[in-house]
Amino acid sequence: MNWPPTPEDFERLRETLAWVAENSPYYRRLLDAAAVQTTDLRTYDAFRQRVPRTAKADLVANQRAQPPFGDFLAVPREQFGSLHTSPGPIFIPRLPEERGGTPVLKAAIKAMGVRPGEVAHVTLSYHIMPGGLRLHRAFEEAGCLVINGGTGASRLQVEVARAWGATVYAGTPSFLAHLGDTAREMGLDPRRDLQYRVGFSTAEALTPQLRQALHNTFGIELFDHCGEAQIGPLAGECRLHEGMHLHARDLFCEFLDPETGEPVEAGGTGEIVATQLGPRALPLMRYAPGDAFRLLPGRCACGDESLRIVFVGQVGVIKKIKGVLVHPVQVHSITSRFPELGRFQIIVEHPAGERYERALLRAGTVRTPSDAERLKQTLADQLKGTVLIHMDVELVPEVDIPEAAGPPRFAEAMVDRRPKH
Ligand SMILES: [Zn+2]
Repeated sequence: MNWPPTPEDFERLRETLAWVAENSPYYRRLLDAAAVQTTDLRTYDAFRQRVPRTAKADLVANQRAQPPFGDFLAVPREQFGSLHTSPGPIFIPRLPEERGGTPVLKAAIKAMGVRPGEVAHVTLSYHIMPGGLRLHRAFEEAGCLVINGGTGASRLQVEVARAWGATVYAGTPSFLAHLGDTAREMGLDPRRDLQYRVGFSTAEALTPQLRQALHNTFGIELFDHCGEAQIGPLAGECRLHEGMHLHARDLFCEFLDPETGEPVEAGGTGEIVATQLGPRALPLMRYAPGDAFRLLPGRCACGDESLRIVFVGQVGVIKKIKGVLVHPVQVHSITSRFPELGRFQIIVEHPAGERYERALLRAGTVRTPSDAERLKQTLADQLKGTVLIHMDVELVPEVDIPEAAGPPRFAEAMVDRRPKH
């Protein structure tokens, strides 16, 4: 899929829309209520402006009201081939021909330089949730010999990975770190006794520090990947590690300004809204999980022309400051480099009579910095380089910053004092 969408992308979308409107009682009702005839939607803009979004809460409420599957369903139960469950629980039945993200994962595995015949060690959970089994099938289809590691039993996992000479790791970065610790406890050297060459990192943030630490431990090159529980895997890094290529072929993805709902151009930050293409047992149309991504401009030097995205965070805490969308996660990626710093708050103001907005970072200190002025200057410089706007910096004791401002939710990290329009 391209962004912005091409006429061919939109044509595929229209075919799916007609099928969904005819077969899913939920979506038929939704479109009727919005007075939308799918035959009237002739352009992408018409689709975006007229078809309502579906939030996770809509799906949950619908399944609660009519357990177990609700009436999103587009086929009778006899046609289901498998059932995925995601936290909630949300039940996602699949047709036998729905491949549950396997083509996306295969593209991501290829971009990592994984070769047929390599031994891949999958450590996501195989229980109930789709993650482990989905990755297992994709590595099998890529021609790998796959170890169904799953979670836990870390000593046994180290023994098995060592005995089989696993060269590919797939799972969370934190579990890989744990395997390194376990190997050392067993008297092993993770670099010498384990063979991990490349790693598929998913389901958790892969910070630069963690990437470097795991490289130091194993000599492994990690590739970051992202997806979403209901719509499945989306994107993964290539060997240049400059953003994640959007590999999703069976999704129509929109990236929209969280405040205006308008399409975002390369270089901007947008909320993902996804429509599954092709027949599905439980179709999702304009599904909006609330995740924001930055779209990287230009083409990747690796030769893959697909759009590259960088996960920013949940849209709820994003604010547009001086015209730029800022997420507390971006600021945290800077402050977490300094051991003196803890929680923080960003105060946004637009003083009366002044042309420009002002942003102030109140950085909480957990111990007294040796050179406060220099720390403030360094912080301001690094913020400018990362979030692309100037922020004033003030150091305050961490107790002055509310606990709810802290990670991972950052609920009170942004304080907006601008006059409401
Ligand atoms: Zn690339």
